[in-house]
Amino acid sequence: MTGISRRAFNRLAATTLAGAALAASGRGAAASSRGARVVVIGGGFGGATAARSLRRLDGGLDVVLVEPKATYHTCPSSNLVIAGLRGMGAIGHTYDRLAQKHGVRVVRETAVAVDPTRRTVRLGNGETLGYDRLVMAPGIGFRWGAVPGYDRAASQRIPHAWNAGPQTALLRRQLAAMEDGGVVIISPPAGLYRCPPAPYERASLIAHRLKQTKPRSKILILDPKESFSQQALFVEGWQKLYPGMIEWVPLSGDGRVVRVDSKGMTVETEFGERHKGDVINFIPAQKAGPLAAMTGLADASGWCPVDPVTLESTIHENIHVIGDSALISPMAKSMSAAHAQGATAAAAVRDLLAGRAPAPPTHVTLCYDLIAPDYGISLGYAYRVRNGAMVPVEGARRRSPVRAPPSLRQREAALAKEWYSTITADVFG
Ligand SMILES: Cc1cc2nc3c(=O)[nH]c(=O)nc-3n(C[C@H](O)[C@H](O)[C@H](O)COP(=O)(O)OP(=O)(O)OC[C@H]3O[C@@H](n4cnc5c(N)ncnc54)[C@H](O)[C@@H]3O)c2cc1C
Repeated sequence: MTGISRRAFNRLAATTLAGAALAASGRGAAASSRGARVVVIGGGFGGATAARSLRRLDGGLDVVLVEPKATYHTCPSSNLVIAGLRGMGAIGHTYDRLAQKHGVRVVRETAVAVDPTRRTVRLGNGETLGYDRLVMAPGIGFRWGAVPGYDRAASQRIPHAWNAGPQTALLRRQLAAMEDGGVVIISPPAGLYRCPPAPYERASLIAHRLKQTKPRSKILILDPKESFSQQALFVEGWQKLYPGMIEWVPLSGDGRVVRVDSKGMTVETEFGERHKGDVINFIPAQKAGPLAAMTGLADASGWCPVDPVTLESTIHENIHVIGDSALISPMAKSMSAAHAQGATAAAAVRDLLAGRAPAPPTHVTLCYDLIAPDYGISLGYAYRVRNGAMVPVEGARRRSPVRAPPSLRQREAALAKEWYSTITADVFG
């Protein structure tokens, strides 16, 4: 463990969750919403948290959540589904309780355009919604074609499975159909992307399943990076649990994929080597969700810069961008971060509508990864705003130790399950 103790960190994380709820229910009565309307685009961890928190904060607000899907499948725990260790139902959540219990107006549509000057959102069905403030949480977009041969059509044969849903189910089916002795290629992206340790968790859980059912199979990770998140812990786990099954090739070992052939099921690396996969999981480079870029909220990085206190766009006023689309470095793009940002944006919107200055937030993020179903690791940070930037709170970092006893790994795996239940209940329950 680095920094504060695990128990202290969990307490801090739990207090932050409870704190958001408390602030929402307690201070709302004093606020004057004037029947204002807040439109939230995207019902993932960021948007659904913001919508629910807004209603908790001020029952007088008209909160409209625009989301095309009836059921949201979470990326967290989707690697268990891909490996065949859980069903799709385990990661599906509906918006019923947000609508029925919390009074959020859920509109099952895609938002196709935003006019920041008129403050309107156009929906796929042609209707237009006006707003006083907008919360934009459309997740990620993919840089299709950045690697030749990998576009939307290719993803139907070589799934990325980096949004949960049909892509998750497709990769799961392909792995289930693979013969023993097959090769699974995983190619993670470089740059900023959703959930940095998740490709390595995916490799681990697939290895767990293959070891039981197709033990002659191999997993080849072709990586355009020299190192990766939680590397020492993953490598230790792989050596212990799956010796010889997972090979990780870094950038300097010719790990960067430069061409994908989805018909021939091959990938080509920088120095001309071709690798054939029985199953290939190519995860393309990413950027903010397409609507955020179409609205002009993204900068040259492809992500959306925001004020760290209010999470309001620094490009268009009255629009708050949260979750994976937002550029809030050094916070990693995670469920935990999106959830914290949803609560922060809601409090800021409520304050700004009531003519008050929002207080600078503190965010606690906690991410668990599974190397096997009963072998968990974790990484936690606290952040606060200093000199106009989000910075980690010194000494408030929590990281699982290497060379820990199996009992700790088991405990962390159990905590991972609990953490998922706690957050999904807080957002969708
Ligand atoms: C394999 C994998 C495992 C992961 N595991 C973890 C984990 O264990 N812990 C963790 O903390 N994080 C994890 N993450 C990261 C986490 O899933 C994301 O960071 C999180 O989902 C971001 O939330 P979001 O609200 O920004 O985006 P999303 O969850 O992607 O939600 C965006 C929503 O916006 C909707 N939308 C998009 N465009 C529009 C539009 N134009 N109109 C209306 N709606 C729109 C979409 O339908 C979607 O429902 C994982 C990610 C992956 C890929």
